[in-house]
Amino acid sequence: AQGQAVIQTAGLTKRFGDRVAIAPLDFQVPGGCAFGLLGPNGAGKTTLIRMVLGLIPATSGEITLLGHQMPASRAAALAGVGAIVEEPRFHPYLTGRENLRVAAAVRNRGANGRIDAVLGRVGLSDRADDKAGSYSLGMRQRLGIGRCLLSDPRLLILDEPMNGLDPAGIQEMRGMIRSLVDEGRSVMISSHLLDEVEKTCDALAIIDRGELIAAGTMSEIASGTNDVLVGSDDP
Ligand code: ATP
Repeated sequence: AQGQAVIQTAGLTKRFGDRVAIAPLDFQVPGGCAFGLLGPNGAGKTTLIRMVLGLIPATSGEITLLGHQMPASRAAALAGVGAIVEEPRFHPYLTGRENLRVAAAVRNRGANGRIDAVLGRVGLSDRADDKAGSYSLGMRQRLGIGRCLLSDPRLLILDEPMNGLDPAGIQEMRGMIRSLVDEGRSVMISSHLLDEVEKTCDALAIIDRGELIAAGTMSEIASGTNDVLVGSDDP
């Protein structure tokens, strides 16, 4: 059984001048699962994610994030969210552990005692004392997730987390995402590759040119009963 929706949009649109990036979009991300936002380059995935996080304003429509209206209740909503919307950056001359210490000092001092646990959680215990500048892209992505975990988010939103990773890195990222779900978090990833989403996610939404094409589990979409999850929380 899926939990309550962690992200919900109603009539959401985004225009850049004359260009329609998101057409009226009603969709929802069920809680307690790994959810894939699938679409080709330019489909509007990044635009949608940025609006959901309140990084750019919507042209019209409504967004509910973890039950909070966006952007009005932005602070309350974002308290439960960890997001990676671009390649995470770190101080290259500081170690992985030191980078997390800095992040904890800046954002969340209570997390200082959990840094070793977080490093273990993202599979970086053995590289924690190496400089972040020596990390591969996959390791930087995982350290980025570790930085998110310092605030113990209920929901992680990752824009193209597997982009540019080699097959081993993709495998690690997939395992990472699955284990985040196993410990009770919700995860939404975006991807332009069906294969990545199919192997990683429990459910997905397909968007193209800012429009929702289908949503549900892969088998629901394949069998055409693809509106099962969309609107399932409606009264
Ligand atoms: P990609 O994986 O290539 O980032 P995407 O699915 O994330 O693709 P978006 O980046 O959200 O797609 O772009 C959706 C559409 O909105 C595209 O047509 C893009 O050109 C347009 N767009 C995005 N940002 C802007 C902007 N700041 N100004 C004008 N047009 C934009």
